[in-house]
Amino acid sequence: MLIFGTRGVTTTRSRGDFHCPQCGDTRNYLQKGVRKFVTLYFIPLFPMKTMGEYVECQACRGTYHPDVLNYDPQAAREQMRTHFCETLKQVMVQVLLADERVHDAEIETVRNLFRKVSGQELGEDELRAEIRSAEASPDRTLEELNRMAAMLGDDSKETIIKAALLVASSDGEIDANERELIQHVAGAIQMSPAHMRGVLAEMHDERETDPAHARQHGMMN
Ligand SMILES: [Zn+2]
Repeated sequence: MLIFGTRGVTTTRSRGDFHCPQCGDTRNYLQKGVRKFVTLYFIPLFPMKTMGEYVECQACRGTYHPDVLNYDPQAAREQMRTHFCETLKQVMVQVLLADERVHDAEIETVRNLFRKVSGQELGEDELRAEIRSAEASPDRTLEELNRMAAMLGDDSKETIIKAALLVASSDGEIDANERELIQHVAGAIQMSPAHMRGVLAEMHDERETDPAHARQHGMMN
């Protein structure tokens, strides 16, 4: 009597380098396919349908959906960076609006800080348009910060808070509304009170040791 059966047979379809999520770095992979074969006496005879494909990291042996090969860490970083600069701009605009008077000095500070962080120019028209859209939806920025919070490192959080404080103080003083807004921003990005105190102390020290900076920015009292 002939003994027929079926069996899954794994074959390598392709190989190359990819970004392994588990290793967090570039590694060799094998892309494998599993196909069902009809067997005769337990020996694969002819193939039936494909059962699935997966990618296996040759370092950690982690297995992934083939979509993992499309992930480009460099592009992802750039995307994150663009998103960060965009959100930082929105935070600064909210601070501009907090004291209900948009001063030229504040506009200048926003444009300088944006250039410093993003390496790009923020045109005055673009900034005015940003201000109008921010007025229309004041809560959008805090919601966005909240969504981003888990992805932000301590350095990024500090950049946001420092930028907010510099814009707030550029018209001479930080008023109560600006203070309150900055507290909300710190809350939204989940900055701890200790970290916030550290940032304030550091900015205070910078002012003490640099009189020109102090006059120019009139930092916190
Ligand atoms: Zn791996």
